Amino acid sequence: MNPTEFVDALQAHGIELNQHQIAQYQRYYEKLIEVNQVMDLTNIIEQDQVYLKHFYDSLTLAWADISLQDKPLKLVDVGAGAGFPSIPLKIAFPQLKITIVDALQKRINFLNDLVIDLALEDVAIIHGRAEDLGKKGSSYRESFDIVTARALKAMPMLVELTLPLVKVGGELLAMKGSRVEEELKAASQAIPVVGGQVFEQVNVDLPNGDPRTVVIIKKAKGTPTKYPRKFSDIKNKTL
Ligand code: SAM
Repeated sequence: MNPTEFVDALQAHGIELNQHQIAQYQRYYEKLIEVNQVMDLTNIIEQDQVYLKHFYDSLTLAWADISLQDKPLKLVDVGAGAGFPSIPLKIAFPQLKITIVDALQKRINFLNDLVIDLALEDVAIIHGRAEDLGKKGSSYRESFDIVTARALKAMPMLVELTLPLVKVGGELLAMKGSRVEEELKAASQAIPVVGGQVFEQVNVDLPNGDPRTVVIIKKAKGTPTKYPRKFSDIKNKTL
């Protein structure tokens, strides 16, 4: 998918990019490739692949949940790495209020530079761990409308790491490939324990046929204060 095909594909979903936004995606691509030479950010480096598998893929969330397209939602992207999915979403939908949290300092440095370079407003970038931000007493706990996660963890761990950050009535948008049923089955106990309820699975396969599913989990009730646990417990004794 070259940049022109990307613009056309979004148009087909009713999303019109202006010249400034088109240039921001191009600059994001250039910066990703430039910094990737000295820092491990992505294995996908060919331009058409970056536009398809990073930019377009990130934007599939906006057809799984169309409220992302025009509401000033508070969104936290847990484990964003080089900025996916939140930075492509922010470029297309500038009204979003984004917080990014990642445990790796070098990726945070990249994102800080990127946000300045692209002149993005309302983007907070935090070096930290989701389970620390989500714990009782943290001002981030249950404070977001939406939490996103792409390529973070399997569902049972993912929900404990992310759902404590979401307000009651908000949602987790988990980006998955195939095998969603298996993951959801494995997480069938964990999801309600941390206050979630599976709402919908939206098929958002890429134009090249790669399978993609957005799992939408609603925050139905508050997360009990003992969650999230510390990471070693989350890992060793999955809910
Ligand atoms: N979401 C990006 C993507 O799809 O390209 C990056 C995925 S990368 C495989 C996972 C990222 O999650 C890494 O940057 C890692 O540092 C971060 N991460 C893993 N566990 C985390 C945690 N508990 N809290 C915050 N970040 C975490």
